[in-house]
Amino acid sequence: MVTVSRTSVAVVGGGPAGVVLGLLLARAGIAVRVIEKHDDFNRDFRGDTVHASTIRLLDELGLGDRFRALPQSRLDDFSLPMPDGSRALLGDFSRLRPPYDHVAMVPQWDLLDMLVTAARDEPSFSITMGLASTGTITENGVVTGVHLRPYGNGNGVGDGDDADADAVEELRADVVIACDGRDSVLRSAAGLRPRAFPVPFDTWWFRLPRQPGDAETALVPAFSGTDVLLSFPRPDYHQVAYFAPKGSDAALRAAGIESFRDRVARLRPDFADRVGAIGSMDDVHVLDVRMDRLGRWWRPGLLCIGDAAHAMSPAGGVGINLAVQDAVATASILVPALRRGLRGAGLDGALAAVQRRRAVPAVLVQSAQTVLHRVVFERAFAGALQSGPPKLPVLLARWVPPVRGVYARGIAFGPLPEHAPAWARR
Ligand SMILES: Cc1cc2nc3c(=O)[nH]c(=O)nc-3n(C[C@H](O)[C@H](O)[C@H](O)COP(=O)(O)OP(=O)(O)OC[C@H]3O[C@@H](n4cnc5c(N)ncnc54)[C@H](O)[C@@H]3O)c2cc1C
Repeated sequence: MVTVSRTSVAVVGGGPAGVVLGLLLARAGIAVRVIEKHDDFNRDFRGDTVHASTIRLLDELGLGDRFRALPQSRLDDFSLPMPDGSRALLGDFSRLRPPYDHVAMVPQWDLLDMLVTAARDEPSFSITMGLASTGTITENGVVTGVHLRPYGNGNGVGDGDDADADAVEELRADVVIACDGRDSVLRSAAGLRPRAFPVPFDTWWFRLPRQPGDAETALVPAFSGTDVLLSFPRPDYHQVAYFAPKGSDAALRAAGIESFRDRVARLRPDFADRVGAIGSMDDVHVLDVRMDRLGRWWRPGLLCIGDAAHAMSPAGGVGINLAVQDAVATASILVPALRRGLRGAGLDGALAAVQRRRAVPAVLVQSAQTVLHRVVFERAFAGALQSGPPKLPVLLARWVPPVRGVYARGIAFGPLPEHAPAWARR
């Protein structure tokens, strides 16, 4: 028995893009339902960085106090290690105007929980956890809704086909927004194919215990000549990212846990006393890093935003913030159109306008990530960073101090940052 329900905007995916979009639309009084396949937000590590552009947005939304009450640490600068053990300061966030003079490191589930709690204050907001969209409902070439079925207990999501025999619900909507991340089912269902860009590395995540005296915000990568390590301080532990050339997972696992612990200790001698806490290779989670982008983000009745439109590499840690900015632009453009009574194919102009507004930042940020892949990661894997980071940016930052502010501003705000629309402010 399939239930048929209705909303104005169906948002599929409760990541940063979907949750922010749901909150903003609800604040405009638009009926919005967010569908998240997981039962909670405690998923694999997908980044903790909340940049100044997002913190400013939270202030504009009246959520700054709630955000600052979340457990978090601050990143005040970013540096690269020098061969003599010192650090080359590249970006200095303290050159930016307070309170937007840092990057906050906040566990993503805390941020999402806080945003959903705020959204639940709005009567037109609803969120359903534990249901996955398996594909679109399409009528006369226009997407008019999505099929839903329980996720978990062995239920995968579908292949995006329009018919889904296992669906328990048909959610009809004026417009569907695909915020379902880099493996977007809805994107495939709509026949939208991203162009993939090469990424030279994969990432392996694990945790190490924190000890008194550990640095609070030292986010300095460590290079060994063949691999890279980065650690993010959390209140009770270090979230550690190990980077190695793409396709190394089988060899790493075959070499075993002792060999992996040795690699970590070699990269970070200060962690040598605790690498035993990585019990086995099962505690080391590989993430196939990808970067891609859609040529067209929409078709009638459906729009892709966030990683569904442009999957981001972790390089520079900006994907969450780009997804949030996409959501703000989408709400700013959609709300006036929905208030005019437009729906389905009548929203084509609005969906195209979102892509026009957000494609440039996505292209610029992914281009910067490609440069980082070449200049930092590929050189690190080839052992070329043993003699120090690339000289030009380091010398510029050392001898022309304002350059440190320019680098910092680029990371903190990114290109074309969005502001909360007036109707969403509190
Ligand atoms: C290893 C790694 C580390 C990263 N580190 C950082 C970082 O430090 N800082 C940063 O800013 N960015 C980082 N990023 C990038 C960042 O995680 C993404 O760019 C960002 O999360 C994209 O947000 P999103 O909302 O578009 O998608 P996602 O965060 O992927 O959210 C998609 C949501 O949709 C749900 N979903 C998927 N399919 C369905 C379905 N069929 N039905 C219902 N729900 C569904 C998923 O469960 C998920 O909750 C990192 C990425 C990777 C891979």
